[in-house]
Amino acid sequence: MEISSFPEDIKKLVIPEPSGRFVYHCLGCGTDWGIDELLYTCPGCNSVLLIEDRDWDRLKKIPGEMWRRIFDYRKMIDVPSMKGIFLFYELIAPVIPLEDVICLGEGHTPVVEANGSLQEWVGLRFFVKNDGQNPSASFKDRGMASAFSFINYAMKKKGMERVLAVCASTGDTSASAALYAAYLGDRVKSVVLLPHGKVTPQQLAQPLGNGATVLEIPGVFDDCMKVVEFLADNYPVALLNSKNAWRIKGQESYSYEIAQAFNYDLENYVIVAPIGNAGNITAILSGFLNLYDLGIITALPQVVGVQSEHANPVYLYYLEPDSKKRRFSPVKVKPSVAQAAMIGNPVSMPRVIYLVDKYRKIAGDESFIVEEVKEQEIMEAMLIANRNGHIVCTQGGEGIAGLRKALRRGAVEKSKTAIVDSTAHILKFLVFQEKYFANNFEPEFEIEVNDALRNFPKLVSPSGLEKTPASGVSLTKAEFDLFVRRTAEEIADLLGIERKKKD
Ligand SMILES: *Cc1c(COP(=O)(O)O)cnc(C)c1O
Ligand SMILES: [Zn+2]
Repeated sequence: MEISSFPEDIKKLVIPEPSGRFVYHCLGCGTDWGIDELLYTCPGCNSVLLIEDRDWDRLKKIPGEMWRRIFDYRKMIDVPSMKGIFLFYELIAPVIPLEDVICLGEGHTPVVEANGSLQEWVGLRFFVKNDGQNPSASFKDRGMASAFSFINYAMKKKGMERVLAVCASTGDTSASAALYAAYLGDRVKSVVLLPHGKVTPQQLAQPLGNGATVLEIPGVFDDCMKVVEFLADNYPVALLNSKNAWRIKGQESYSYEIAQAFNYDLENYVIVAPIGNAGNITAILSGFLNLYDLGIITALPQVVGVQSEHANPVYLYYLEPDSKKRRFSPVKVKPSVAQAAMIGNPVSMPRVIYLVDKYRKIAGDESFIVEEVKEQEIMEAMLIANRNGHIVCTQGGEGIAGLRKALRRGAVEKSKTAIVDSTAHILKFLVFQEKYFANNFEPEFEIEVNDALRNFPKLVSPSGLEKTPASGVSLTKAEFDLFVRRTAEEIADLLGIERKKKD
């Protein structure tokens, strides 16, 4: 739609100008640092940082109702840089001029209502937001779009030199970083560190295909993360993990899209997401708080984080009801089918603590909870969801299992509507489906296979045929017709169907 036909008040605001005063805010000592340099931790006290806009209040001059209209009208315009997460420009990173924004089609992922039988199985009305339909097939693209847009801007306008982009990954961060780095061409070289044998073949193939340097490290993700942190502290590299606060900004778009999809009325909604390194849950909380602060939403939805009992440090932390007595301790992870969230020492934990505190002050203690699920429950929830027409990954299954459990113990009300984050596409996590179908999980996974959920291909080999196309020889017309008829009869037999009567 042509902007010229928009209402006058919208016309002025629909294409934004750069604005804002961004700082890295230290959650340890409270110092603000300028964004001219890429920082990952506070140079003063080494704590993690969050990006904050010190000119945020200018956005409050526009009423919430007006913001809703601006964002809704933007859905109709044809500006490539605003086709992705930067539709919510002022809330993401308005310090980056639109011309420097990198958009590879991330965000605006489908929100699909579960069918009747799946809703019945879970116990309430719910939707799945398919973040696996992002360009690299996980939600990580949201954060890479903002982080790489900033890098692109800094290289073009702020004299940043060629960038060596490094990250540790459980598989999806590396796929996403490699994709965006490749798009920026020679100016950015991507290096990814993966825990050897702990990412799926598809996830390994992605950064290889995008030309990244792929390094496999002995240990688990938490070990890779330590190596990458050492590199970032001591060498001239750009860290692309969610420790990089620019990642969080882009991932907030998940909350903005949900608000928009449900007409900015989230009062009776529950948002469910898996927790690994806790970047995603940080961004989700921060996103809803931003919307609330600007009056774009007038009630905060309940947020449910889900962890496997094989990687549950955030769950254990919030088990203690008295906030003064809570102590965070990292856990040693055990093998998990929710492998992308198999993290024992989440880097964003201080951010979670800081934001949950804010969130609960506004919306009450029940407004943020963490649910723990068994590996068995994760697998079954994923398989059952996909048998009902979804494409959820194991982490999406973790979310559905967590929602079901929270409902059963009364921590989520049945009258609410839930939105579950399927953080990646099932195709990235097929190994776990295959292990389930083949019943060959290593005992550490603690998964027992339910035959009713298994599925196998069946080989159709009609008897009494001398030649089939499989043998590589050419068949005469008569031989081929016989092959078609005999194979069809065999299939009909298998399916138990009778031949139609000709009249
Ligand atoms: C990274 C990832 C997670 C965990 O998200 P965090 O931000 O690390 O908590 C969950 N699911 C998938 C598919 C992921 O790639
Ligand atoms: Zn500090």
